[in-house]
Amino acid sequence: MAGERGNGWLRGIGDRVRRIIERPGSADLLRYRPVVDAAGEFEDEFRELSPQGLIEAAGKVRAEPDRPFEAEELARICALGREAARRALDERPFDTQLLGVVGLLRGYVVEMATGEGKTLAGALAAAGFALRGRKVHVVSVNDYLARRDAEWMGELYALLGVTVGFVDQHTEPDRRREAYACDVTYVPVSEVGFDVLRDRMCTDAAEIVLPDPDVVIVDEADSVLIDEATVPLVLAGSIDHGHDDIDVAHVVRELVESVHYEADGDRRNVFLTDAGIDHVQELLGDVDLYTVEQADQLTRIQLALHAHALLHRDVDYLVRNGKVELINAARGRVARLQRWPDGLHAAVEAKEGLDTTPTGTILDSILVQALIGRYRTVCGMSGTAVAVADQFAEFYQLETGAIPTNVPCIRTDEPDRLYVTEDAKFDAIVEYVRSVHEQGRPVLLGTASVAESERIARTLVDAEIGGVVLNAKNDAEEAGIISRAGEFGRVTISTQMAGRGTDIRLGAVGEQDYERVAELGGLCVVGAGRYHTGRLDDQLRGRAGRQGDPGSSVFFTSLEDEVLVNHVRPVQPRAVDEDGQVRDADAQRTMDHAQRVAEGEHLAMHRNTWRYHHLITIQRDEVLRHRGEVLRNDLAAERIRERCPERYESSEAEAGAAVTAEAARLIVLHHLDRRWSEHLSHLADVREGIHLRALGRETPIDEFHRIAVEEFGTFLATVYDRAADTFDHAEITADGVDLEAAGIEGPSATWTYLINDNPFGSHEQRFADYVGGKARQAAIELGLRD
Ligand code: ADP
Ligand code: MG
Repeated sequence: MAGERGNGWLRGIGDRVRRIIERPGSADLLRYRPVVDAAGEFEDEFRELSPQGLIEAAGKVRAEPDRPFEAEELARICALGREAARRALDERPFDTQLLGVVGLLRGYVVEMATGEGKTLAGALAAAGFALRGRKVHVVSVNDYLARRDAEWMGELYALLGVTVGFVDQHTEPDRRREAYACDVTYVPVSEVGFDVLRDRMCTDAAEIVLPDPDVVIVDEADSVLIDEATVPLVLAGSIDHGHDDIDVAHVVRELVESVHYEADGDRRNVFLTDAGIDHVQELLGDVDLYTVEQADQLTRIQLALHAHALLHRDVDYLVRNGKVELINAARGRVARLQRWPDGLHAAVEAKEGLDTTPTGTILDSILVQALIGRYRTVCGMSGTAVAVADQFAEFYQLETGAIPTNVPCIRTDEPDRLYVTEDAKFDAIVEYVRSVHEQGRPVLLGTASVAESERIARTLVDAEIGGVVLNAKNDAEEAGIISRAGEFGRVTISTQMAGRGTDIRLGAVGEQDYERVAELGGLCVVGAGRYHTGRLDDQLRGRAGRQGDPGSSVFFTSLEDEVLVNHVRPVQPRAVDEDGQVRDADAQRTMDHAQRVAEGEHLAMHRNTWRYHHLITIQRDEVLRHRGEVLRNDLAAERIRERCPERYESSEAEAGAAVTAEAARLIVLHHLDRRWSEHLSHLADVREGIHLRALGRETPIDEFHRIAVEEFGTFLATVYDRAADTFDHAEITADGVDLEAAGIEGPSATWTYLINDNPFGSHEQRFADYVGGKARQAAIELGLRD
């Protein structure tokens, strides 16, 4: 039995495990072994309990919420959870899983390999927190997983007397409120963020759906907390329009790379050359773009050029049903809720000849990092956490610890096979897949993009191998397909994130089939290239060799791969085979180097973005604290009465005290929200401008802080001045205040989206870099710089 085998790690810890656990920056979670042992001692006792007895035993855990867990209590929680899981799922949590539960309850990011049962460990920890009276959000990367996990673990929670709910993008507001009222709520990170943003616009406390943030358990923690940390979640509203959409897409289409424009090495920025500027000015009818009047035009051209040269259909986005749908670069999948910052989104639509969607005003936005920072307790789990332990510490003050697998992993990870050209690499992949497939061994082929998946799929069809392609169109459907990737004779082609969170068992249902596939060597994972971080490589590798299964992994790479081309100088291999395979070790090592450079760049970007957003986050909290008081108390009435006492009294006489106070509240809320939206937009402008000033002597971030603090100093005074002015002129009757007549109606519609500017830097920044680049170029030409 797996559970029996699994106890091996408790007695003798292999060298491999020790190496993982002693990696710098990570905590030793094995020190909680005594707790797990103690849980084992409760096992027989709890097995005898009646269902009611189990709930009562669970109820005893409920104690003062603000006391840290004691060891014995942790042991009881583990033992109760184990018994409930056994009854509900017919799965007895392994000791390793309980160790994970203790790690989570103690507030760590816990690394447990793919297939080790993190869903169950997370649920037991969530139940543990809930039994202590805490409110828990289990945050997932998509809707499908939130729903699946809430349903899968539902009975387990019921046996412990813990209530559970889930939220996805289709959940109606009332249902959301109910789901959040449960002890444990499963929710995708984007949805909880959108609820935070929508809640902060409420003008009636009863409309709020979210309770105060308490505990969050983040599944796929590195993906959410590191890779997507700087993704802004946005609430926009249609307030004022009036964008003149001059189509410049046709102008940039005429431009030729290297003649009229150049992209920088990692293809994040694109610049018009002098010849390009001349040509554009000619095409537009002899205008001078570098004048103040033409500044907007220049921006639009830059956006159009960016859309034309750097964003590629089927790599960066798809066009479906007349709409542009983004492909999230980090996940290699369609991000339906995502948009680029408005100007760029419209530029891509124009490039594809689609109608451009209206732009709105950003009412508020929050970064994923700030969203997670709201919770009192943060913990999480992932198959790849230790590699970013220092970043968890830096950005979230979290410690990370690894947990060994229940059964030793016997997967063989072969060294990369490096080729000179991409074509040679693809040929080699096809030959390799053919040889493995001929034996009937299942193959899972991981690619970096939808376009690459499709290219490989076509090649495999031509080679009469075939295969199922997953390209990130529907999470639930994908999960169904990927769960079968371990069957005899299957070839599955998948982008990195497709079907994430889905378990791949060997063989079709039935033990015999398992044996057949296991004898062949289990699942064979093939990477069609290394990703921009080793963590993604490891996620793919980890799909093979789950829970002690046999399996193997190998990556095919080429000197033409983007990761290499974009991050290191061209490599001159010394030893190349006939088939184009590179044999010298130095060349092979450059891939690791390129990956480290890419990871370093991402970290630098994360730090920089957070430096700007940290202060905004603090200011936002302050505004929201004040807003909460206005919403719940009579603060608005008091302040307005102070500012216009006569008008206030006459209104009270005419419309009554309660109506007048409510009018004051609505007016103040309106100006508070509007001022915040203005403040955000102003700071975005400042940030852009700052990069221009970076050419001078000032330190941009200090300058940004100086301006942001100064602006904020008058924030509330401005709000109340405007509110008093509105109140003075507003029509207030027994029916309330006429918002429309007062010109302070709320937005006619609001919508939410994520901005896709990760991991390649914000658009504003790219544009500022571009203008900065132009200015630097000019300075060089004038001999002012070298
Ligand atoms: P992870 O998220 O760590 O990759 P999952 O939570 O998806 O893993 O679980 C992987 C598989 O392991 C699931 O099919 C689950 O039913 C199974 N599993 C988890 N815990 C146990 C257990 N204690 N005993 C038997 N099977 C388990
Ligand atoms: Mg999982």
